[in-house]
Amino acid sequence: MGLTDILRKPGETLGDMAQVANLDAMVNWGQSYSLWPYPFATACCGIEFMGTACSDNDIARFGAERPSFSPRQADMILVLGTITYKMAPVLREIYDQLSEPKYVVSVGACASSGGMFDTYGVVQGIDRFLPVDIYIPGCPPRPEAIMDALIRLQEKVKTQGLEARRTEIKRKIEEINERNRPLIVR
Ligand code: SF4
Repeated sequence: MGLTDILRKPGETLGDMAQVANLDAMVNWGQSYSLWPYPFATACCGIEFMGTACSDNDIARFGAERPSFSPRQADMILVLGTITYKMAPVLREIYDQLSEPKYVVSVGACASSGGMFDTYGVVQGIDRFLPVDIYIPGCPPRPEAIMDALIRLQEKVKTQGLEARRTEIKRKIEEINERNRPLIVR
């Protein structure tokens, strides 16, 4: 029996130490309070996110105050604003570069549905090419709505587990590919 096996069983002893928590639960808890965002801001919702990150709202309380502009050092991508068809492959490539487990938050009406821009050049919702975890309504959403989404995502990270996460992503990607073949790369 390896160390990992022992640490998965609360109540087991390791030398003179007693294991009091499940290792997965501890890792998930830690991860939920260090969700570093990659803000993909293309329009006014980006300004709202800046307000959310500032001291009045203090997103640091959730451990998410450290924006990363490298996808390799981010845990979640926040899509903030209108996404055009020209931009969609770029956004998808950035998503692909994030390390697993990674999460997608669609912030505001434009990212979630195209918003008021029902035109030939605007993607009518990023879930046409990304597996979205949380949708935030509003134009723009209030900082409270963004923080509420963050809390919901934390709950998901704490409780889902890696295996269930893999299954969910696989299902969503298959649905995207099936629904929207011309757009999707893989
Ligand atoms: S949802 Fe509203 S506030 Fe956000 S990017 Fe679109 S138009 Fe701007």
